[in-house]
Order: sequence, then structure tokens, then C-alpha cells
Amino acid sequence: MDIILVPVGEIDSAILINLKNDLAKVLKKEIAIDKPLPEPEYAFNKERNQYLSTAILEELISRKKTLPRAKFLGLVDHDLYVPPLNFVFGEAGRQAAVISLTRLRQEFYGLPADENLFLKRVLTEAVHEIGHTYGLSHCSNFHCVMFFSNTLADTDRKGFNFCPLCERKLNQNY
Ligand SMILES: [Zn+2]
Ligand SMILES: [Zn+2]
Repeated sequence: MDIILVPVGEIDSAILINLKNDLAKVLKKEIAIDKPLPEPEYAFNKERNQYLSTAILEELISRKKTLPRAKFLGLVDHDLYVPPLNFVFGEAGRQAAVISLTRLRQEFYGLPADENLFLKRVLTEAVHEIGHTYGLSHCSNFHCVMFFSNTLADTDRKGFNFCPLCERKLNQNY
């Protein structure tokens, strides 16, 4: 298995299955869904009412020792932060990455739900963080998935595809 999706706490299984199928198409990799990890209470910051994504990332890395070649992508349905940023959509190291679903929903901004848009955003953020685990850095092309998203408008504009330069780098690192 190349990439393993790990629900961290409760994640709707329809989201996981959808992401698994979409990632297989975009990345041309074998994707599996692992059994869920417990809710990440160890990462909760009461003052901020947010979860420290680095703590969840460390937990994922410690889990993956048995499968050194696979990349782990954790999915969390809580708002994540990394100081000094107010929030992050996700965080990645070289072995594992984590994304938050919370800010990808229209409802978070008081807008009506849009399931297709939500699933596209989940895919975009997942591909971006997995790109980092394969050694890609941020790209200045704002139509490339490796462009850094400061806002959801950035995420929606860039979509889930790599630009030709990032695609080439990715294939070298696969
Ligand atoms: Zn990034
Ligand atoms: Zn690029």
C-alpha cells in the first residue's frame, strides 16, 4: 500500500471512501483506509478551542513504524492550529500528514452546505499535503495544488492538479 488514510476520531465513512477513490485517480497510487485512531484529546488546547496539528502528526508518525514505505494521511474533524498561525488546513512531514475537514465546509462560514464543493476541497487539501510527504514544496503557480492556501478562495482556485513542474518532481520522488 502506498498511502494510508487514517481517521483520527470520528470521520464519516462516505468522506473516506470518496477520498480514497479520488486520490487513487489523481495520484495513481494504491490507497487504503486504516481503522480509526481515538479522538485526539492530547492535542486539544482549551484556551484556543483548537487542536495542535503537530501533536496529531507525531501520533501518526509513531503509528507508521510498521509500514516504513507508506505515507499516512490523517483526517480530523476538528479545527487545527500551528503557532504562530491562527489556523491551518493541514500539516505535513516526510512520512505523514494531517488535514482538517472543519474549515472546508460552507456551513463553517454560515453558508448553505455544498457537498460536492466540500469533497473537492478535501481532495485538494489531501493532495497538497501528500505532495509535501513526497518532498514537494510550495509552488508559485496559483493553479497548482502545491500553491499555499491562505484562504479557501486559494484552495478553490488552485484545484487538485499539479502543474507540469511539480508533476515532474513528484514522479522523480515516487
Ligand atoms: Zn503546504
Ligand atoms: Zn506546481
